[in-house]
Amino acid sequence: SDITQKLEQTIRDIPDFPKPGIVFKDITPVLANPEISKAVSEAFLNYWKKAQIDVIVGIESRGFMYGLPLAQGLDVPFVPVRKVGKLPYTTIRHSYDLEYGSAEVEIHTDAIAPGQRVLIHDDLLATGGTAAAAAELIRKIGGEVVGYSFLVELAFLNGRAKLADKEVHALVTYS
Ligand code: 5GP
Repeated sequence: SDITQKLEQTIRDIPDFPKPGIVFKDITPVLANPEISKAVSEAFLNYWKKAQIDVIVGIESRGFMYGLPLAQGLDVPFVPVRKVGKLPYTTIRHSYDLEYGSAEVEIHTDAIAPGQRVLIHDDLLATGGTAAAAAELIRKIGGEVVGYSFLVELAFLNGRAKLADKEVHALVTYS
């Protein structure tokens, strides 16, 4: 579609970031372009508006950028999932494996009411470890994960396989 093409033209490849051999997809040129950035928000809203979402969970930090406008467009709460040590109230944690070592994410224990239908949003789906960890947190506090939303999917890393049978949507996919 129109927005997919615009994103393909606008997202920038940064070789060897954050380490040698990795080509990082840089979305800052999208944020810097008001017309495209607005179209991104509209595309997310248009895709999810009929899904009966109760809460948007955005993953630190690039999941905050389009997660909040999506929540506002759907007229639902926005909830942050953050790296450990950032959230001030009572939290629960979940750790997950990375290629080297592990990472840990947190959510406020009162952020989601039992049974609420939650959409997880982040900028990019790579291996799926981060989004799957966010889903674990949401389930631990009683939420129902109904889908996953991304700007970008790196399909060759097969992150979808970690996200069970829930709906996964990305505005642009690299194969
Ligand atoms: P995963 O857990 O799916 O392997 O990695 C996804 C997480 O790492 C997301 O939070 C995403 O922001 C970040 N990430 C990994 N690779 C990239 C990349 O090439 N570009 C951007 N913008 N984020 C990335």
